[in-house]
Amino acid sequence: MSKVKPTGPIPQGYDDKDGELLIGGEKASELVDQHGSPLFIYSKDQLDKRFAGLRNAMPEQLHIHYAMKANPFAPLLSHMVSLADGIDIASGGELEMAIKAGAKPNHISFAGPGKRGEELLQAIRTGVTINIESPTECDRVLKISDREDVQPRMAVRVNPDFDLKGSGMKMGGGAKPFGMDVELVCPTVDRIVNAGALWRGFHIFAGSQALKADAIIETQQQTIKLAARLADAIGKAPDHVNLGGGFGIPYFPGDEQLDAGQIGEALRAELANLPKILANTQFAIELGRYLVGEAGVYLTKVVDRKVSQSQTFLVTDGGLHHQLAASGNFGTVVRRNYPAAIASKYTTETQEVVSIVGCLCTPLDRLNDNVEMPKAEVGDIVAVFCAGAYGASASPANFLGQGPAKEILVD
Ligand SMILES: *Cc1c(COP(=O)(O)O)cnc(C)c1O
Repeated sequence: MSKVKPTGPIPQGYDDKDGELLIGGEKASELVDQHGSPLFIYSKDQLDKRFAGLRNAMPEQLHIHYAMKANPFAPLLSHMVSLADGIDIASGGELEMAIKAGAKPNHISFAGPGKRGEELLQAIRTGVTINIESPTECDRVLKISDREDVQPRMAVRVNPDFDLKGSGMKMGGGAKPFGMDVELVCPTVDRIVNAGALWRGFHIFAGSQALKADAIIETQQQTIKLAARLADAIGKAPDHVNLGGGFGIPYFPGDEQLDAGQIGEALRAELANLPKILANTQFAIELGRYLVGEAGVYLTKVVDRKVSQSQTFLVTDGGLHHQLAASGNFGTVVRRNYPAAIASKYTTETQEVVSIVGCLCTPLDRLNDNVEMPKAEVGDIVAVFCAGAYGASASPANFLGQGPAKEILVD
């Protein structure tokens, strides 16, 4: 027998009814009967609660942006546009989606290395803020704007000379394709200002998926210091500083919820005691997974139950083509289990050890490995949690000709 492994922590706020998992007031089996399987369900109620909790924890004057690459599903995006102070995009495609979802151009900022000419043109014409990732990109924007006779809105994305400690994905501190090194910032801002473009400020993003408040607090303090140092060197105050994000969510056994209250308190103190040159600067944070990740559940039906060499497998009609991260991103060194449950037997005691796999013909297609679950039969429904971010749009839906899963937003 293989060793029993724990599942990841199930997010707070999910209730049950008649022994089943409830999402947005509906039972898992009803949702699947109505909408089919596999299915992504995002809960407005969960989105609202998360956003309100964060809003409450953060300083009043701080803007909270939604980084839409976490989840661009149109109904969810529209909802996030109604909640957030800004939308952060990273492609021309996302720009179109953000505008369609009702975001105002002056509330949109566009980051990302390798913006193509047509994307820059689209951004300039639409009037969104472009986060400039290199001096050459700066030149391209100025050239296109000149041709179009439009004053572009430009912020400079800085590759910080520090990183976010304990983050799952480092986006600063060292050689990076994102932003420009600190010593390039002043000449680039000078160039923007001298060309008559609108210089909006700085974008400084140091990393993602941190669960330690202390690490985020330290990074925010370093970010504010860096912004002040750069502004002093330029001799001009930035209207806007995007402090980045990095707020993580618990996915794996042992992970603990981030203490947003602690971050808010420290940031409140920081903003109350700013370096002089930043006294009138508007600060923002940009978050993806923290805002939407735990509000989504992926439901997939059991289509087969089989035993191989005394190990039981539940084979589902879903898999890594929809939930790549839960499978371990095409192989990780140590594969750990995402939070999962038998949604149709949510309150039943665990009865057996099973591996929950997808329907793809690859050994990598595992949703949960050697976990204790109630006994599930064909037709039962598996829930994989933390499916609200980097699920549907960040998985290879066309792998093996499977196609995408349906997505719905419920109250
Ligand atoms: C991906 C990304 C985000 C969102 O990251 P999360 O971990 O989902 O919060 C925010 N800002 C930038 C610049 C990004 O690239």
